[in-house]
Amino acid sequence: MGTYYAVKVARPPAGLTPEALRAGIERVLGGVIATLSTYDASSELSRLNRNPSTDWVPVSDALRQVLAAGQRLGAVSDGAFDITVGPLVNLWGFGPGAHADAVPAPELIRAARERVGYGKLELRADPAAIRRQRGDLYIDLSALGEGEGADRMAAWLESIGATDYMAAVAGTLRVRGKNAAGRPWGIAIEVPDPEQRSVQRILPVTDGAVSTSGDYRNFFKAGGKRYSHHIDPHTGLPVEQHLASVTVVLPAGTDSARRADGLATTLMVMGAARGPALAEAQGLAAYFILRENQGFRELTTTVFQQIEHSASANERK
Ligand code: ADP
Ligand code: MG
Repeated sequence: MGTYYAVKVARPPAGLTPEALRAGIERVLGGVIATLSTYDASSELSRLNRNPSTDWVPVSDALRQVLAAGQRLGAVSDGAFDITVGPLVNLWGFGPGAHADAVPAPELIRAARERVGYGKLELRADPAAIRRQRGDLYIDLSALGEGEGADRMAAWLESIGATDYMAAVAGTLRVRGKNAAGRPWGIAIEVPDPEQRSVQRILPVTDGAVSTSGDYRNFFKAGGKRYSHHIDPHTGLPVEQHLASVTVVLPAGTDSARRADGLATTLMVMGAARGPALAEAQGLAAYFILRENQGFRELTTTVFQQIEHSASANERK
């Protein structure tokens, strides 16, 4: 998926060697890539994207679950999150193909927009299948792939008896238990500036999922403007941002990293004007960093403030 992973296991189960850990993790992530990566032409999703059928097409249950998670986010966000946004992502040069680093012609944007809309597909659970209204829909699950990877790694770590771990794919991770020093895992939130690579804040987390979405790594500049990889499906354009990054924290659960991953991207697409209100209304623990004048301003939801308070109360115990 064009990214990296990191796994730490404290107090590992007896007999777990670093080699076995690496092999197990890479097998798990290989499975995720084979299901949903658009960077792998032989993945199940890439094959589906090449299949022009507008009839029901069988899919694996693993793929159906990620598609369904994407569709739920589409509904919650009124289409700000949209798994059919792929043609626009690729047109703007943020997909697996060529990166032109240039603004596409308006007629190309218009043509790509015609192919976008999460209402243009239907899912069926049993047997797992998808039906698309157009043969040229192109589904992009990149905004959920990191989280799916982190959840699958966590499930495998649980299955081998690990009780204290941190498992991350890029900016999305699952943690459980304590670190090697016996303290909560410290999750660093970066200063949203590619030049700096310094830490804005450290969140102590013992059992949960964390995902940070930002516009400060994957972007290009043209004509003095910056264009980032979060595309507003309603306009066909990258979202213009005062929002530099969003971090979502959820309690641990089987799909918590995937939900945190998708929600963080959703809040980025909704932007500074609408994102914080949605996060508050959904009762999410979310931490926003807004760009302001020369610096940054932080904004947190009520639930985020509550978990911060209880974390610092635990620290004092
Ligand atoms: P980030 O963590 O910065 O959000 P992700 O990889 O999780 O990065 O999500 C960004 C990716 O999501 C983009 O590269 C693109 O493939 C996809 N994407 C962009 N806009 C949308 C959107 N409106 N809805 C769903 N997916 C999107
Ligand atoms: Mg994401």
